[in-house]
Amino acid sequence: MRVELLTVGDELLLGDTINGNAAWLGRRLAEHGIEVTRSVVVGDDLDVIVEAVTAALGRADAVITTGGLGPTYDDLTRDALAKAAGAALVRDPALERRLRERVERAGRELQPMALRMADVPEGARILANSAGSAPGLRVELPGGIVYALPGVPFEMHTIMDEIVLPELAEIAGPPAAARRTLRTARMWESVVATRLAEVEAMDGVRLAYLPDPAEVKVRITVVGPGAAARLTGVEARVRELLGDAVYGAEDESLDRVVHRLLAERGATVAAAESLTGGLIGAELTAMPGSSATFAGGVVAYATEAKHRLLGVPADLLAARGAVHPDVAAAMATGVREALDATYGLAVTGVAGPDPQDGRPVGTIYIGVAGPGHSPIVVGPKLPVPGAGPESRAVIRRMTVVHALELLRRVLLGLDVGDANGEARPDREDRG
Ligand code: ATP
Ligand code: MG
Repeated sequence: MRVELLTVGDELLLGDTINGNAAWLGRRLAEHGIEVTRSVVVGDDLDVIVEAVTAALGRADAVITTGGLGPTYDDLTRDALAKAAGAALVRDPALERRLRERVERAGRELQPMALRMADVPEGARILANSAGSAPGLRVELPGGIVYALPGVPFEMHTIMDEIVLPELAEIAGPPAAARRTLRTARMWESVVATRLAEVEAMDGVRLAYLPDPAEVKVRITVVGPGAAARLTGVEARVRELLGDAVYGAEDESLDRVVHRLLAERGATVAAAESLTGGLIGAELTAMPGSSATFAGGVVAYATEAKHRLLGVPADLLAARGAVHPDVAAAMATGVREALDATYGLAVTGVAGPDPQDGRPVGTIYIGVAGPGHSPIVVGPKLPVPGAGPESRAVIRRMTVVHALELLRRVLLGLDVGDANGEARPDREDRG
């Protein structure tokens, strides 16, 4: 079963609307083991839509379109389907009645134009829209089936989940592919890929690397008969090759892992943040129940604030500047004591665009203070992502990930040294 996506709308081509529908459909179909072989975007142009639908059905068994089913004259998908099918548009009395009722209930008057939403290509099946006005349509063409869905995301989601997915899943039969996503932190994409070379070479196994700042998600896909059973073995081998860089799977984010580890130990953490300005606190409070493990945070941005709020010695700050391993250690100890937490987690560094205290952009120090040991400090060398305005955001995000990952490693008693080995390439896109 091969499915293509066709998202329709000038706003998608112009970049006014991000194509969330294609992303959502891709994810949803993959979850159901249905292969999407191509995704195309076209504008509100009748002939272009007809051509795109016809071409898609020359390759795939089914096409899912979104957008262009509304009442206005730039909504052309139903006209395009009628043209592709060589069928007339006929007004459906039940749809017309439903439209009139909806409008009357809202105390409005039906615009004649709205009746376009009751027009259906002859022979098409109506896909009821329980979430809005414009119904979806299912049209059988010589090359395959077209499912036309509205553009409004939650209406599209509703029709997809209620009608289209169950139908496609039945046609497709049991999934021919099994997938698993493992999540790693601190390891560069190139290092992850190098370690997994032998898995990459396995028959029927595909690996995809999904990089985020300081994280790489590895999606393992196993295709062919017995895919699900084979996946278990392949996943075990991947975990072996990546070692403790793997912190979780699927949607298990780093903050959730840290929260769980703290909760299991009846422990709490307090954050002292300089360059991240509260992002670590935001991350550690994102999930419900975080009050059990997050004591609070101090945003000590100015050098003076590190002294006043966290008790970092003024002479240390004067002698070494604010970006220094001893400062990270003192901030971690200070916030741990101030908030009476089990652990203190602190970050100081240079987010850019300008150097600070003679330290280059991307210099960061992360400290963890905890019971039974003196503060642990790491100073990972971040791969600075260029000098553009986005690089500051990326450095701050990388710092959050490195900080949470350091705390995870301390909690698990893992090595906190460099994850990528000594031989660093000079330039590297992702950290
Ligand atoms: P309506 O009945 O609301 O007119 P429609 O089927 O005609 O629905 P469009 O007019 O193309 O759909 O889009 C309606 C709204 O849905 C747009 O304003 C846009 O915000 C959103 N939308 C459309 N296509 C997409 C898409 N591919 N991804 C995300 N949002 C979309
Ligand atoms: Mg519309």
